[in-house]
Amino acid sequence: MAPQIDAPDAQRIDASNRIVMPGLVDTHRHMWQAAVRQVAADWTIGEYVEHMLGGIGPKFTAEDVHVADLLSGLEALNNGITTIFDWSHIVNTPEHADAAVGGLTESGIRGVYGYGLPRTPAPSWYTADAARIRKTYFSSDNQRVTMALASLGPEFASMEEAEVDLRLARELDLRTSLHLGCGLLGGMRALTGMHERGLLGPDLIFVHCNTCTDDELRLIAATGGHVSISPRVEMQMGHGYPATGRLIAAGVQPSLSVDVVSGVGGSLFAEMRGMLEAERGWQNHQALQRGEWTTRLELRTRDAVRIATLEGARTLGMEDRIGSLTPGKQADIIMLAVDRPNLALINDLPAAVTLADGENVDAVFVAGRLVKANGKLLSHDLRNMQDRICASRDRLLPDVATAV
Ligand SMILES: [Zn+2]
Repeated sequence: MAPQIDAPDAQRIDASNRIVMPGLVDTHRHMWQAAVRQVAADWTIGEYVEHMLGGIGPKFTAEDVHVADLLSGLEALNNGITTIFDWSHIVNTPEHADAAVGGLTESGIRGVYGYGLPRTPAPSWYTADAARIRKTYFSSDNQRVTMALASLGPEFASMEEAEVDLRLARELDLRTSLHLGCGLLGGMRALTGMHERGLLGPDLIFVHCNTCTDDELRLIAATGGHVSISPRVEMQMGHGYPATGRLIAAGVQPSLSVDVVSGVGGSLFAEMRGMLEAERGWQNHQALQRGEWTTRLELRTRDAVRIATLEGARTLGMEDRIGSLTPGKQADIIMLAVDRPNLALINDLPAAVTLADGENVDAVFVAGRLVKANGKLLSHDLRNMQDRICASRDRLLPDVATAV
C-alpha cells in the first residue's frame, strides 16, 4: 500500500470522522420477499412454509420478483452490504428467473443469483432453464453478478432430488446453497446421508445447521464446505439455537445472512449483534449451569466484523476479490459516519462497527463505483419506485391492501 496516490483528476472524498472498511457480505437472503415485508414478523417456520411458500409465493408474477429484487438490492446497499447471495426460490416460471437477475443487476450491488425452485416435483423445463440462465447472463464468473444454485436440499425435498440438483450445479460449474439442520428436520441426519453418498465438497454452502450434530459440522469442515447462519430468523422461527460457537469449535468459520426479509429487517449490523448476543447468552447460560461465572466472552466484536466481511467472501468463493481492504482486490468499500448520536466517536473500533446502523452508512462503493454518497443512494430514487412497490403489494396481499 502506498502512502499517497498520484491521480490529479480523481474525485476526492473527505473521510474524516468516518470508519473506512470493506463492504458487508450477506450470504443468504430471499430478496423476492422485499415487497411483502413484516408479514412474517410473528411467524414460526411452520407458518412461513404454509403462508409464504404455500400461499403468497405462488401468486408472485415475474414483475413482482423484479421489483422486489431491485428494492432488496437497494435496501442492502443502503445498509452497507456490497455483496449479497440472492436465495431466489421463486422460479415459478422461466420468466421469474430473468426478472430476478434483472432486478438484482439493476440495483448495482455485487451479487450471486441463486436459481431455485419453490417446491418439488421439479417442472420439466428445470434443468434446461437453469442452463439457459447460466449461458445467457453468466458466461463469466468475474462479473459483478454471478450465479449459483439454490437447492431445496434433502430436508425440504428428497435426497434423490438434492442429488439431481448437485449434479446439475456441478455440470454448470456452480456453487450450491441448501438449508440444512432446520429444527426437527435436522433429525433426518441429512448431512450424514449426503456424506455417505459422497456428495459433500467445497462447493457447498449450508444454511443454518442449527440441529446438525457436532460430528456433522466436522464433516463440513473436513470437506471444505461453507456455512451461512441467520441468528435472528433462527431464534424467531424455531430453527434451533444459532450454531456459531459449535461451528467454530468444529473448524468452520460461518458467514452471516439476513434470510427472511419479510420477517426481520435487512441490516447485517443487527445480524452481527444478534449473533454476538445469542452466542454470549449460550456461553453464560452454560457456565451458570456449571455453577461458574463466565470470565471471558469467547466470541469477540472483532470476530463479528470478520464474519460479516471476509468470511462472507470466503463462503461465496470471492476472497480473492472482496472481503478486505487489500491491494489487488476490488474496491467494495463502505464509509461509516461516527459523528452520529448512536456512535459519537470511536472508543473501540470493532465494537463501533457492530453497534452501527444504516444511518451511519455514509458512502458505499461497489467495484470502485460510488453508489451511496452523503447518506443518499445515487442510482435510484425510491419515490419513483413507489407505485410499482404498492401495485405488487396490493396484488400479493389484497387483504392488507384494503385494511391500510
Ligand atoms: Zn433461507
